[in-house]
This record gives sequence, C-alpha cells and structure tokens, in this order.
Amino acid sequence: MVYCSNCGEKLPETANFCPKCGVKAFKNVETAAQPVSTELKDAFNKMSQELEKAFEIAAKEISAAFQTVSENIKSSLQRELLACPSCGAKNPSDAVFCHKCGKRIKSE
Ligand SMILES: [Zn+2]
Ligand SMILES: [Zn+2]
Repeated sequence: MVYCSNCGEKLPETANFCPKCGVKAFKNVETAAQPVSTELKDAFNKMSQELEKAFEIAAKEISAAFQTVSENIKSSLQRELLACPSCGAKNPSDAVFCHKCGKRIKSE
C-alpha cells in the first residue's frame, strides 16, 4: 500500500501525485526498507559466524586445558604408584618407609 509522504493519504497504485495535497507520490516506499533488513540479516549472519568461531576456539581451549589437567593427574598418580618391594602396597614416590608394612622402601 502506498501512502502520501506529506499528508498520509492512501494513494492509488497508479497515482503519481497525491489527490489530496498534490505532493509527488513516492512509490515502493515499503520496499525501500528492504536493504536495511538485508543488512541486519547479514549482521546477524556475521555475528552467528563469529559466535560459532568463538565457541570453536573456546571448545578447543577447554579440551586442551582438560588434557593438560588429566595429564597432570595421571603423572601425579604415577608419582604415587611406588610399590613396596615387600608387600606390594602402593606408596608415594617420596616415601621412605612403606605405609602398610613399615619396611624401608628406599635403600639410602
Ligand atoms: Zn498528500
Ligand atoms: Zn610394604
């Protein structure tokens, strides 16, 4: 629907001038708003792409951090797995005596 830009009168599709105030009728006033919505769409697309990228990076960083943490846990677990030569109990690597049987683990 076309309306007069001056007085707001509803204009016929074929009108070149407003029948009420005589102002030149600008046709396709409504479609003039389309470039803006396309721009918005593009902006949204860009934003979602940026968000996707950010999520990808964050996911990579999180998994890398998780790997580092799990490796730290693994190595700390390995450090604690010093078997007693007498009873086989697992002792911390810095243990001098077995916590279970009391035997000396370290020779020095
Ligand atoms: Zn008018
Ligand atoms: Zn022991």
